[in-house]
Amino acid sequence: MRDDFDAVWQELANAVMSGMKEWRLQHPKATLREIETALDERLGKMRARMLEDVALASAAADVSQTSEAERPRCPTCGAVLTARGQPIRELTTHFDQTLRLKRSYTVCPACGTGLFPPG
Ligand SMILES: [Zn+2]
Repeated sequence: MRDDFDAVWQELANAVMSGMKEWRLQHPKATLREIETALDERLGKMRARMLEDVALASAAADVSQTSEAERPRCPTCGAVLTARGQPIRELTTHFDQTLRLKRSYTVCPACGTGLFPPG
């Protein structure tokens, strides 16, 4: 886990809190549902960024840096998978936030199956 997560995540949390205070001043008569939506939007951004950071810290983000014993195995035939670069993988998560994850793409040397290993 990177040490600088603390500072970055603190900033994200501060942005959610100050953004919400500002929003409340601009919407003094908002309904509970409107407040909830505004809060979810802000938390959704924070959530997506934290998810990216944690996912990038996992071993599956860069399989080439793991030892042979730790490498994922082919779900089809069980052979140890070989890393084939780290393309950016875009996924959509809650609150319509885009995650951009740099993930190892792996190929099975035995049967040719290609996949992004989970984890
Ligand atoms: Zn295979």
